[in-house]
Amino acid sequence: MDKIYRCMLDDGRIRIFLADTSNACKEICERHNLNTTSSDALSRVLSISAIMGIMQKAGKLTIKVEANGPLKGILCDVDYEGNIRGLVYNSSLNEEMPVEKAIGDKGLITVIRDLEMRVQNFSETELISGKIGEDFSYYFKESEQVPSVVLVGSQVDKHEFISGALILQLMPGYKEENVLYAEHFALQAPKLVDIIKTGDLEGALKELFPDIQIFSTHDVKFKCNCEKGRFIAGLATLPLKDIQEIVNDNKPIEVTCNFCNRKYQLDTSDQLMALNMRLERDTKKNA
Ligand SMILES: [Zn+2]
Repeated sequence: MDKIYRCMLDDGRIRIFLADTSNACKEICERHNLNTTSSDALSRVLSISAIMGIMQKAGKLTIKVEANGPLKGILCDVDYEGNIRGLVYNSSLNEEMPVEKAIGDKGLITVIRDLEMRVQNFSETELISGKIGEDFSYYFKESEQVPSVVLVGSQVDKHEFISGALILQLMPGYKEENVLYAEHFALQAPKLVDIIKTGDLEGALKELFPDIQIFSTHDVKFKCNCEKGRFIAGLATLPLKDIQEIVNDNKPIEVTCNFCNRKYQLDTSDQLMALNMRLERDTKKNA
């Protein structure tokens, strides 16, 4: 089972999250049939997103990286319970290349927080390198005013799928010595893939940070919350004429969830439900 460790150093002036997301990322990348480059890129964003979900006390987050590279962008949905799903906008990239080239160097990171009380907040920063770790470090500093070291690691090949992330953050009230500590750690940090490969995250944390306090652990898993009702509601947003045409054709239509590739058949009764939703909405608008 994939895990995230939430930890503290120096009475909470530094907090550290370490995530092993290998199984969930493997399943997501396989469902989209992604090549190595795309799997690596998506896993990096998914691993950081999974941690950002756990940082929340409630609700869910949508994290988008949209840039000028051939992948066109990455979209991840996560929640505070460790459920993650994600996709790349262009899933048919065949050529292998460095992740930063596939993602691109001009673009935006957008984070949308949905706190379950109809409160949504939205933040955005520019991409600085396309390597993802540096980009999210910049995001935390600029957008959330939290200086952060962000390490991502993934290794995708025929035999092994390893992915994860480590985020070290300076919390309000941090001291100059904490800044030096973070800088020193960033300079001499071992490769994250090697840490995750050991399978002993707790041991690795204690070795890296001898005074660490492990606060809690959280399971991470792939979960898509798609359901037929959402696709019926989606159909209801089409122009009335188009819905009527689909109903008149009198045959089921197939729709596919972009996140999990699950297919749904919308038969005539589903189509009529969409038509009714559309008509009801139009009546309300005209009333
Ligand atoms: Zn789905």
